[in-house]
Amino acid sequence: MLSDLSFQQLVEYAAQNNMPKFRASQIFDAIQGGKQLEEVSNLPKDVKNKIAVDYPKYKIVKVFTSQDGTQKFIIEFADGNIVECVLMKYKYGNTICVSTQVGCRMGCKFCASTLNGLIRNLSAGEILGQVLLVNKHLGGNGKERKITNIVMMGSGEPLDNFDQVCKFIELVSAEKGINISQRNISLSTCGLVDKIKLLQEKQYNITLTISLHASLDEKRKEVMPIANRWTIKEIVDACRDYFDATGRRIYFEYTLIKGVNNSEEDAKRLATLLKGLMCHVNVIPLNSVKERNLIGVARGDAYKFVENLEKLGLSATVRRTMGEDIEGACGQLRNKILNEKKG
Ligand code: SAH
Repeated sequence: MLSDLSFQQLVEYAAQNNMPKFRASQIFDAIQGGKQLEEVSNLPKDVKNKIAVDYPKYKIVKVFTSQDGTQKFIIEFADGNIVECVLMKYKYGNTICVSTQVGCRMGCKFCASTLNGLIRNLSAGEILGQVLLVNKHLGGNGKERKITNIVMMGSGEPLDNFDQVCKFIELVSAEKGINISQRNISLSTCGLVDKIKLLQEKQYNITLTISLHASLDEKRKEVMPIANRWTIKEIVDACRDYFDATGRRIYFEYTLIKGVNNSEEDAKRLATLLKGLMCHVNVIPLNSVKERNLIGVARGDAYKFVENLEKLGLSATVRRTMGEDIEGACGQLRNKILNEKKG
């Protein structure tokens, strides 16, 4: 698919298909503009016919708008698979949360994306497509950027799709293209330590975010199967190395689940664990998952937890929950849509 290609690769593609170089620029602009092939007006029919098999066929099939302005997009790929991505509007810009896989095989108990396992990886161009389509939806194109920040916090485990995710980071931050600064890109992982080390070697300027959610391995295992593979200590050690090598502050996501990880003891252990590491903790009340009987805490309790962390010397904030009325959390909306299709 052509959105998997860098500009240089597209120039080569054009040459191989006996097209002049300016055609490569036109095709590249069309893709970066998030256009469907039929919307492209500056390509003659024979060129369109020639590239039709390779031109991206992803499209936005549904948009949900929350009362707080957050929008959720359902994006369909050529094979009929769908993913969701979320657009959050802040004062400083527009953040898009993209999916990196269709489904997920990590099995976190609180996460709706993983309920049906992993369907398939997304290609770099399909991850990029989410950014380009939503950018177009906002009136932007390859030259006019309406999206300023990207978080890989949608469905899927980015480091379980390592090569395509790296390629995506390179494509989306390439000078030729939508050119979103790596400093404005976050990659969120449940903590695949071997892959964190590989990511470190890439020396990207992105922000590494760890979904930690517990300060004791035994408790982490209760909600995150990956905790059977890597210990919290191994993850935090990898983060220390990552910071030393990249100078990028590490973010931790800590979702508060009632009765599981929200005690004062939990806060203390977390503070001890992260001592001396340049990091920030985002505390989020769990978006309750009825299927699993996991309940979030009240916002007041989240503020109390953050206060405790701050007293212990950690930098922490309660993350705003957005778009709850549109099934904002990971994979919730996709599941609802799939269930409606089934039912
Ligand atoms: N696999 C990656 C990225 C996807 S999850 C990861 O684990 O980080 C992105 C974030 O959403 C994670 O921090 C995850 O824990 C959080 N999340 C998932 N389900 C949630 C829920 N029901 N309520 C609150 N946060 C949730």
